[in-house]
Amino acid sequence: MAQAYDVVIVGAGHGGAQAAIALRQTKFEGTIAMIGDEPELPYERPPLSKDYLAGDKAFERILIRQPAFWEERGIAMLLGQRVTAVDPAAHTVTTEEGAVIGYGTLIWATGGAPRTLSCGGHDLAGVHTVRTRADADRMMEELDGVTRAVVIGGGYIGLEAAAVLAKFGKQVILLEALDRVLARVAGEELSRFYEAEHRAHGVDVRLGAKVDCLEGADDKVTGVRLHDGTVLPCEMVIVGIGIIPAVAPLLAVGAEGGNGVKVDAQCRTSLPDVFAIGDCSLHGNGFADGAMIRVESVQNANDQANVVAKTIMGADVAYDAVPWFWSNQYDLRLQTVGLSMGYDQVIERGDPASRSFSLIYLKDGKVIALDCVNATKDYVQGRALVVSGAVLDPAKLADASVPLKEIAAGF
Ligand code: FAD
Repeated sequence: MAQAYDVVIVGAGHGGAQAAIALRQTKFEGTIAMIGDEPELPYERPPLSKDYLAGDKAFERILIRQPAFWEERGIAMLLGQRVTAVDPAAHTVTTEEGAVIGYGTLIWATGGAPRTLSCGGHDLAGVHTVRTRADADRMMEELDGVTRAVVIGGGYIGLEAAAVLAKFGKQVILLEALDRVLARVAGEELSRFYEAEHRAHGVDVRLGAKVDCLEGADDKVTGVRLHDGTVLPCEMVIVGIGIIPAVAPLLAVGAEGGNGVKVDAQCRTSLPDVFAIGDCSLHGNGFADGAMIRVESVQNANDQANVVAKTIMGADVAYDAVPWFWSNQYDLRLQTVGLSMGYDQVIERGDPASRSFSLIYLKDGKVIALDCVNATKDYVQGRALVVSGAVLDPAKLADASVPLKEIAAGF
C-alpha cells in the first residue's frame, strides 16, 4: 500500500472540509488525507447558483479556507482523484487510477451527482446541471450566445438559476412538473409567492409541464419538446431535478442504505470505522420525528462533520442540530429553520405583498419550522420556538407587531 492515514475523508466539499477543520480544532494529532474528485480545494457550493453564477463573486472568495490553511494543519489534499472502491476488511480505498490508500477511520462525504434527464437529447451540448464549479463555469462561458433558456425543475437551484439568467436579460422559461414550485420543501403559500415573483421578473413559469425530449442540431440543444407537442426553442437548458447520493462504493460492500447510506446518531455507517456525513447520509432526524431522511444543506454537512470529529476524539455526542437553510433570489433572502414536512397548519405572519413576511408551520399545534422572506428577525427568534416545540396561540404568532422572542419568552 502506497499511503495510509489515520483518517481518510472521501469528498472535498462542505462536509469533508469541515470534518478536517473540526478534527484539528479538537486537537486530533493523527494524519488526515482528503480525497476529492474535483481539482479545486474545498469551496462553497451555494454561490454556484447565486453570486458566483451572476459573476458577483470571484472563485477565490468562495474557497472554504485559503490554500495555506490545509498545508499548515498537515491535511493532505489528494485532489482530482475519485474513489471507486472500499475494502472495509483491509481498511483501504482504491481510486480510479488504481492507487490504494489505507485508513484507520474513513469519513464518507461525497454529496451526490445531479440527476440528469433520461429522455432523448439529454446529453446535447448546452444542457447543464449545477453542482460543481466546472458546471457553473461552463454555463457562464456559453451565456453570451444565449437569448432563450429553459430551466427544468422548480426547486431552489432551478429558481435561483432562473433569477440569475433573468437578471442577465435572458428570456427564461421555467418548467415544473408538479402544480407548484418548491412543492417538496415548502408550503403552498411560499410556492405561490415565488411563482408570482419570478413571473414579475419576466420568467415564464409553467406548472404541470412534462418534458418529452430535448431537440438539437449539430449536437447542440435547440429546444425542449413537451408532452403536449409544444416545442420551446432555446440555446441553453438547465436541469435542476435533484441529486443521486454518491454512495455506490459503500453499498457495493454491504453498507446499509439505498437512497443514501444509513448512519446512526454519531453518523456511523454499518461498516466498521466508516462514517458518512452530509447530503449522502441517511439519518434519523429529530426534527422530522426521527424519520430516516437525507438533508441537503450546508448546515447538515457541517454539523454532522462536527459530530464525527468529536466522536473520533472520544466525546459522547449525537447529531441533533436544528436544520436551517437559505436561498437568494432577486432581492429576496429566504431563511428557513426547522423542517416543515408533515405540517398541518400554516400561519402567515406579515403581508407577502410587503415582500417581508414569514410562514410558520405547525404540527399538532407545535411550531416545527419557519420560512422567513426578508425577515431575519423572525428567522433568528423563531429558532427557539422550533427547538422548544412550543404549542403557542396561532393568533399571537400571526401578529407581526409582537416579536417572536416575546411570544417565546411568555411560553
Ligand atoms: P458536497 O459539498 O457536494 O461535496 C462532495 C464532494 O465529494 C464533491 O466535491 C464531489 O465531487 C466529491 N466526490 C463525490 N464522489 C466522490 C468520490 N467517489 N471520490 C472522491 N470525491 C468524490 N445549501 C444551503 O444550505 N443553502 C443554499 O443556499 C444552498 N445552495 C446550493 C446551490 C447549489 C447550486 C448546490 C449544488 C447546492 C446548494 N446547497 C445549499 C446544498 C449544499 O451545497 C450541500 O448540501 C452541501 O454542499 C453538502 O455537502 P457535502 O459535503 O455533503 O457534499
